[in-house]
Amino acid sequence: MEFKNKYVLAIDQGTTSSRVILFNNHGDIISLAQKAFQQYFPKPGWVEHDPNEIWYTQSSAITEAMAKIDTTSENIACIGIANQRETTIVWDRETGFPVYNAIVWQDRRTADYCEEMKAKGYAAMIQAKTGLIIDAYFSATKIRWILENVKGVRERAERGELCFGTVDCWLTWKLTRGKHFFTDITNASRTMLYNIHTHKWDDELLNLFDIPKSMMPDVKGSSEVYCDTSTEIFKTNIPISGMAGDQQSALFGQLCLEPGMTKTTYGTGCFMVMNTGEIPVQSQNNLLTTIAWKMGDKVTYALEGSVFVGGAAIQWLRDQLGLIKNASVTEEMAKSVQDNGGVYFVPALTGLAAPYWDQYARGAIIGITRGTSAAHIARAALEGICYQVYDVLKAMEKDIHSDLKEIRVDGGAVANNFLMQFQADISRCPVVRPRILETTAMGAAFLAGLGVGYWKNMDELKEQWTLDNIFKPEMDERTSGKLLTEWHKAVGRSLKWAVD
Ligand code: ADP
Repeated sequence: MEFKNKYVLAIDQGTTSSRVILFNNHGDIISLAQKAFQQYFPKPGWVEHDPNEIWYTQSSAITEAMAKIDTTSENIACIGIANQRETTIVWDRETGFPVYNAIVWQDRRTADYCEEMKAKGYAAMIQAKTGLIIDAYFSATKIRWILENVKGVRERAERGELCFGTVDCWLTWKLTRGKHFFTDITNASRTMLYNIHTHKWDDELLNLFDIPKSMMPDVKGSSEVYCDTSTEIFKTNIPISGMAGDQQSALFGQLCLEPGMTKTTYGTGCFMVMNTGEIPVQSQNNLLTTIAWKMGDKVTYALEGSVFVGGAAIQWLRDQLGLIKNASVTEEMAKSVQDNGGVYFVPALTGLAAPYWDQYARGAIIGITRGTSAAHIARAALEGICYQVYDVLKAMEKDIHSDLKEIRVDGGAVANNFLMQFQADISRCPVVRPRILETTAMGAAFLAGLGVGYWKNMDELKEQWTLDNIFKPEMDERTSGKLLTEWHKAVGRSLKWAVD
């Protein structure tokens, strides 16, 4: 079979499911399979996965995606991997057995330790080296927790018997039956142990967190032939040639290839990532600096900010308030009223993330009068998502001293046309919705396809990315300005609410 008639197999290993998409040479989705897996919550604030179940669900999704179109490994040109980031796995180099469950990015068990590190004054040094704000979110303190708390593990690690990896690293280890132990640079940049300027594991940080260097994987670029698979799930071996953390992969899948280009994902939370080119912009506005990808010798950086509650505010209206039957009805409800009727919904249900970083903020619905209807509340929830995204995008604009030209969007909630139009109106910037919204998997496919020459260059990729709709700003500036002033007044009322 001719190379170009083959498929690219994209692994999208997410927080709740392991997915596989097969793309053809035109970037069309040919097959998709998805397997959910168990979430473990051993204590409040703790979240774990079983690494073997991650592998098992991922490998069976691979088999199913190929079986659905009756294809075999001979017809797969290459494999790309996008993964949930920061999630931490430690396993035995000889046996491949994990020494503990995967500690998931959402897990807060090391939050107090992070507060101690901040109190000791390490924040500036860590931000300067890693681009990150000290937080339990990142891998470093999770590795340390395993070393400190699982019996015998520290001694084994000191003897060089153990490996640490994020999920990309674990999957390539499994796909090659332990022959290859490496991670890609985007995942490395989320560990809080990787120096994003020198492009090396940082000895000072490894010492600070008391992590033996022998545990750390090699770090590779995002698009190159790393190795071939060697696993019984394929009849023939396939090159693995693209890897990136999920948000970086989505940025690539959206083809945000030039500095200033930005994508926003509207899912449970909202994730904004901006390409800043070859310059690692250190944020003055509480955003993270991270590595977008490395192609050849060239490293591209990004600014990142997230919002905890995005689409989850709509879930809350449905599941907790019982105000709506399903998420999509909010579009008609919002359009059925002329404006928000003065109602603002600050969805700080789990505190506020960027740019406020206030874990004591709480949700507020404010401005309610006798005239307020369910439609106003639904509209306020959708508007609340857009205002939060606006605040992060503004912080990005301030950090790069330049205005956004457009926002590329993906995620489940972008089906809502009201949400998209309002985002464009309030941000005074076009919102661009692509036809294929599977941008995370698409990014992994693009990186892998470039790695083996399945696609020759970026221009060829640009032909794959097709538009669904552009939402242009229509609201006059006076109106959007007034809405934003009132929104910020409402945010002010919700900040520090839960402090005694
Ligand atoms: P995740 O990947 O985080 O699980 P998805 O990208 O699948 O999330 O998006 C699901 C989220 O989008 C849910 O929180 C849901 O409430 C929201 N959502 C889905 N459809 C709509 C819609 N038409 N309008 C508003 N919100 C929606």
